[in-house]
Amino acid sequence: MKLEVGMYVRTDKGFISQIKEFKEHYTKGKRLVTSSKVKEVDENYLSLSGNQCDFIDSIDYSIPPCYPSDEEIEKIHQELKAYWGKGKVADYIPALAGVEPKRYGIAIETLDGHSFQVGDADIRFSIQSISKVFALAMVTRHLGDRIWKFVGREPSGNPFNSLVQLEYEHGIPRNPFINAGALVVTDRLMSLYEQPKDAILQFVRSICGNDDIYYDKHIARSEREHADRNMALGYLMKSFGNMENDVEDVVDVYCHQCAIAMNCKELTRAFLFLANHGVNPFNQEKILTVSQPKRLGALMLTCGFYDESGDFAFRAGLPGKSGVGGGVAAYIPGNLAITVWSPELNRHGNSLIGMETLERFTTDINNSIF
Ligand code: GLN
Repeated sequence: MKLEVGMYVRTDKGFISQIKEFKEHYTKGKRLVTSSKVKEVDENYLSLSGNQCDFIDSIDYSIPPCYPSDEEIEKIHQELKAYWGKGKVADYIPALAGVEPKRYGIAIETLDGHSFQVGDADIRFSIQSISKVFALAMVTRHLGDRIWKFVGREPSGNPFNSLVQLEYEHGIPRNPFINAGALVVTDRLMSLYEQPKDAILQFVRSICGNDDIYYDKHIARSEREHADRNMALGYLMKSFGNMENDVEDVVDVYCHQCAIAMNCKELTRAFLFLANHGVNPFNQEKILTVSQPKRLGALMLTCGFYDESGDFAFRAGLPGKSGVGGGVAAYIPGNLAITVWSPELNRHGNSLIGMETLERFTTDINNSIF
């Protein structure tokens, strides 16, 4: 009988020995009556299935291939150029309007040290809302679950900058990835750090192992000068008592975090700590507790792409985050991180080609979080 494989889990040696016992049962021809523990993949990873009550026919020790070849990535890259011209570069922040629409880069890095890149993976762009993941990780580190008193964790089903829900939900934003929620997170971050801009930059530099990451001041200023909607969100929340700092200051820090300039390679590296269960793979620093990466990943999957989150989860099956600069960063826990950059956006404000690329990617490698 065939055994269904559910997921890979990093585990400890104690659990491995349990699996060994199961293998002995198997070799004695006994029936497996457990709901999980089944197949050993290597000494750090186990493949588990849920609710199975089966005989094991064979134990496969090979690690399934979880990333494509350079040729396959190049093929996706070439094929998706056919979508050029079908989206639109963000122009509500004037400094973003000048970006070359036909930029297209992909960078992938696995936890076991493989990396792939193609196209414009070395060119820096404005990470915009992808920064919301970094700010949330920083705040989660300090406040833990206390942050969920001030911001929800449900998909909004609304555009990223919508004001509507906020009024009838009494100034508590639906989730930390719509602009209102991100402003609350930035506000709390400002209460936690004396120099929040320095702290954010420092955090991002440490998780991608690169001290050159900087704020693109030109973009920060441009967004700050056109931030009426974010200011409105901030003042509305302030009126409900859900903003601790001066709204102008919060919006200023928020515009800076959005204006961080990074390339696909750097963003991919910055997402690897999430794939690595909250531990920075470059210096082994434990950034998040065991359950925090679960929370961040669940939020990215359900809310990371605003009112396109369900569709993206359906198509690509990855936790990830987009930004109006055209970047999309995503990851497979225990395995890899990937960033795609293509500045033309779809009607939801997500990178049109970025989303397509990730759908192709998980389909081609036959691996997602599901
Ligand atoms: N800085 C942008 C804004 O506040 C971020 C939006 C986004 O990337 N979706 O509008």
